[in-house]
Amino acid sequence: MRIRRLSAVFWATCIIAFIFILYVVTDLSFKLPSIKPAVEDIDNAKWSAFETKLRHIENELNKHHDVVGEIKSAVDQIVEKSQEYYPPQKRPKVVKEVYNEVKQREFKPVADEPPKMRVPFNVSTCPIQKQTVPKTDIQMLSLYDRIMFDDIDGGVWKQGWNIEYKEDQWNHKNKLKVFIVPHSHNDPGWLKTFENYYKTQTRAIFTNMVEKLNEGVGRKFIWAEISYLALWWTNDATDKEKAAFQNLVKNNKIEIVTGGWVMNDEANSHWLSTIQQLTTGHQWCIDNLGIIPKNAWSIDPFGYSSSQPYLLKLAGLDNSVIQRVHYRVKKELASNRQLEFKWRQLWDGVGKTDMFTHMFPFYSYDVPHSCGPDPKICCQFDFKRLPGNGISCPWGIAPQRITQKNIQERALLILDQWRKKAQLYRSNVLLFPLGDDFRYDRSNEWDNQYQNYEQLIDYINNKDEWNAEIQFGTLEDYFKALHAEVKLTDFPVLSGDFFTYADRNQHYWSGYYTSRPFYKNMDRVLLAYVRAAEIISSQAISSRSVTHIMSLQLRDRVEQARRSLSLFQHHDGVTGTSRDNVREDYAKKMYMAIKYSQSAIQQAAYYLLKQPAILDQTQDDVYLDVDDVWRRHDEVPARITVALDVVSPSRKIVLYNALAFRRYEVITVYVSSPHVEVFDPEGNPMMAQISPVVAGEKRLAFAANKYQLSFPVVVEPLAITMYTVALRDSMSINKYTSYARVRVYNADYWNIDLPKMFPVEQPTARLAEDVTLQASNSTRLVVNMNGLIKAIVSPDGTTVPLHMDFVQYDSHRGKDNNSGAYLFIPAGPAEPFRPDGFPELVLVEGMYRATLYSALNSPKNADVVLAISVVNNPTLPHSEVEISNTFMIDPQADNLELAMRFSTDIKNGDTFYTDLNGMHMIKRRYFDKLPLQANYYPLSAAAYLEDERNRLTLITSTPLGMGALQPGQIEVMQDRRLSKDDNRGMAQGVLDNVRTRHMFKIIIENANKPCQVKTAADHPSGQLTLGAHVSQQYLLQPLVVLHYTARDDSPHAGYSRATSSAADVVLAAYTSHISTKNKDGSVLHGMGMTFQRVYLEQCYGSNEISKWYHVGDGQVQISELVDAPSDKIFESSLTFVNLKSQLPHGVVTLCPQEIRSVFINQTLKN
Ligand SMILES: [Zn+2]
Repeated sequence: MRIRRLSAVFWATCIIAFIFILYVVTDLSFKLPSIKPAVEDIDNAKWSAFETKLRHIENELNKHHDVVGEIKSAVDQIVEKSQEYYPPQKRPKVVKEVYNEVKQREFKPVADEPPKMRVPFNVSTCPIQKQTVPKTDIQMLSLYDRIMFDDIDGGVWKQGWNIEYKEDQWNHKNKLKVFIVPHSHNDPGWLKTFENYYKTQTRAIFTNMVEKLNEGVGRKFIWAEISYLALWWTNDATDKEKAAFQNLVKNNKIEIVTGGWVMNDEANSHWLSTIQQLTTGHQWCIDNLGIIPKNAWSIDPFGYSSSQPYLLKLAGLDNSVIQRVHYRVKKELASNRQLEFKWRQLWDGVGKTDMFTHMFPFYSYDVPHSCGPDPKICCQFDFKRLPGNGISCPWGIAPQRITQKNIQERALLILDQWRKKAQLYRSNVLLFPLGDDFRYDRSNEWDNQYQNYEQLIDYINNKDEWNAEIQFGTLEDYFKALHAEVKLTDFPVLSGDFFTYADRNQHYWSGYYTSRPFYKNMDRVLLAYVRAAEIISSQAISSRSVTHIMSLQLRDRVEQARRSLSLFQHHDGVTGTSRDNVREDYAKKMYMAIKYSQSAIQQAAYYLLKQPAILDQTQDDVYLDVDDVWRRHDEVPARITVALDVVSPSRKIVLYNALAFRRYEVITVYVSSPHVEVFDPEGNPMMAQISPVVAGEKRLAFAANKYQLSFPVVVEPLAITMYTVALRDSMSINKYTSYARVRVYNADYWNIDLPKMFPVEQPTARLAEDVTLQASNSTRLVVNMNGLIKAIVSPDGTTVPLHMDFVQYDSHRGKDNNSGAYLFIPAGPAEPFRPDGFPELVLVEGMYRATLYSALNSPKNADVVLAISVVNNPTLPHSEVEISNTFMIDPQADNLELAMRFSTDIKNGDTFYTDLNGMHMIKRRYFDKLPLQANYYPLSAAAYLEDERNRLTLITSTPLGMGALQPGQIEVMQDRRLSKDDNRGMAQGVLDNVRTRHMFKIIIENANKPCQVKTAADHPSGQLTLGAHVSQQYLLQPLVVLHYTARDDSPHAGYSRATSSAADVVLAAYTSHISTKNKDGSVLHGMGMTFQRVYLEQCYGSNEISKWYHVGDGQVQISELVDAPSDKIFESSLTFVNLKSQLPHGVVTLCPQEIRSVFINQTLKN
């Protein structure tokens, strides 16, 4: 017995010794320079040796259970400390149980929870085809490869050829049917603001419309922009005018085309924003006109994305019209009569996604380029240009009023143009759009256009021998006649997109991918807020604890924000192609929308935390502050500093996850004291990292009296959770807080005044070699002496060279040949951006997060402050680097475009992939036959390069322009400052640059060999890995961090309702207060949800990640998200206006790449 006890004491002593050593080693590891990897490796080896020994000792200890209980608990604490990095996998479960308890108590008994329902679902019937290439008639990337992009003068049709026809093509049975479609293109903001255009022009268009359309029997008109119609409806239209308008719609004299809030941009807009703007418009249409648009009209966006026709198809539209396509592509399609085609998704093997599309053949949508190939002639048939109306024909021949005397000659002249245009299409049905920007605002214009055409129509229709039938028409009239004549199967299938657009010469419209990047970034911030506000409000509203009036207040604020986001999707909004004062107006609207969203989020969060019902709340009550403070509409937002003192020694940090899967992240908040500790939702102390705050615009500095506090958090899908930050006694030993190690280079003149706990190194010699940076087991960064990334060492030890630098472009200075808001016409290849030597560098390394700050100043060019971070997040085991880039182009710079470039040894040849509106990935190739600006593409969310070994993925917070101009290289334009106009109507340069911040993530993943589900090598589409997808979702929809400020301090520890958590399903929309049209025509009210299931790459990336982020089977049971009986759940169209059949068991089934919407009927019985 005595020997046993002795042995126990011996082992206990050993343990204490080990604990001591562990502490010493922990401290030392922060002092050891990490520039020498060998030392680190030994360090790691030591760690694992200690761990092995510990385990061995633990085994021994088990034998002496009763004796060493106390010691073991000490060991446990140490072990827990090392596991705290992320969970124990146990932790989320514990959290969940707590939530379930809350749910049981507050919402509904657990017995009511239905079992997970699965419906029979055969994935092999899905339209997705990746192992082989789907068959199409026209594949855009192949077409790009094939054609030479020559620019031969085609005569009157400059970019085409001399069109001929035979008069006997038509006979009395087979007439040429011409539909004259009057339209007015109303930009919701461009040269004037939205409201100013409305006041000066658009309002008059509506008042004339309701009057003039009834003056002739066959008169028709189409209207696209619902934002304007809604403004007229609310502000000015009389009841009589509204009734007249509704009648005209009902009688098919006015057709609402597309029915979006705006005619959205297709390069920069995120697909989630496109859905927002379409839904806002369609919901308005159903509520006020009782109609659902059938045909889309997108004549002015600067290039077209293939995600748009897919969204239109899902929204229930049948046909679509587009115009701004590269002139050489138009010529190619026209020469094969392929200007009308079925636009199919890149991945669709069966044709389930086809959208019938009509492309205009000529230069513009104005009348001179619409009636036929000769603008000199067509212009004479734009009767607004009759002499004396202030607008003339630049080709020198003015229109003539139609009279008895000239009618024969005039009729034959335009008929000849129509006949020629018809040669480019497969049918005898012809679409002739009659309109232009802000047309039909004056009453005499209505008279001039309609009366003259009415005479021509009568005259031609009465000439039997001409075999023509002319009428005014809507798009619906045109497409109906077309489909009656030519079977859908007789049209070609096209896949791919129409970027990058050129309208003439080498004028490629790739400048607008980047113009005004501050506001492009703000657009994405707003999107995240609108989504979060919409989802959390819907959760609050559906929890039934919210009063009716509160529910309406929440809805109104979300709707207000949604309308501003939607307005900015306009093709002169997010594109950055409006006048300065208009851009200012958009920014102020978005600023207010962020405020509205934040207000709705904090109120809804409070309701959910305070269930059941709170009765005495007002709209202005603030319970929580959102930790993202927008002080101005043109200033990078600030963070809240949590002020802790003896009076208020602790503060609750509330987190809301608007993603429909569980997230694991290291978050950072600012605190006023370095002596703090963090408690998890159950009140257990947690490991946390304290770092100094490095701030500054041109020069770096440590911020006084604030510190970064970083700690790992887990937040359930669509859940609220709460962590506590508290002051601690600064004198006591603190096991849970670690202080970052700080290194300052090239700033020996700094007087560093940081609290003593931070180990600081400040060499006096200037940095002359590479340094490395790492946060515990994170990716390690190798940084060169200029403060830029040189290589990345993955957690498994492989080094990938990644050379980062900045470059700058100058504008070409030829006559009518320079960069501007739309165009990118560089003077030549990029020049290096040369900042001053020996930039100030600050390296901050802690257990969770390590950041390199560098200030790169190039006087008269630009200042760039970089914060490059690696994070210790074991749930994302790939190599990942975060780059925060805050910069300002110098106001003295004359024509400067700044790009960030990464060069790698990836052997991708000329192939790379970019996203389309954040929805899916498209394959691209660098073409030497095209100029540099033509090889620039929209980078809306992500791009990647790959070879047999590695894939590099770049993810962006901001839609920008990108190029992959050399093998292994990828560059992203950051900002552009241009002194000249580029002659596309704006009549100004881009000189309103402000300090802007973009966030990027660089992910490097290894190829998995062998790989089972391989995409065909020549497949025109790509896909992100699970890791890149998750990281992208994190960047797109950041955790909402709120500080609890309500006086009342007893909320629930969290709120969680959702039980579905598949990371490959994106909850694209979850919105309340929507309307839908039942099959019997009645309107129902309720909630709407939209889901997307992404198809994920399996040949790259770590398999480890699927342990954390579950990939589902494509089935979502709606009751996993919201309380809804399954007989109330219906499939619906994308914008919810069209009700389809009831969903069996309330389960949505999604094929990979599919998007589906549901409607939950909550119509109250009267
Ligand atoms: Zn426009």
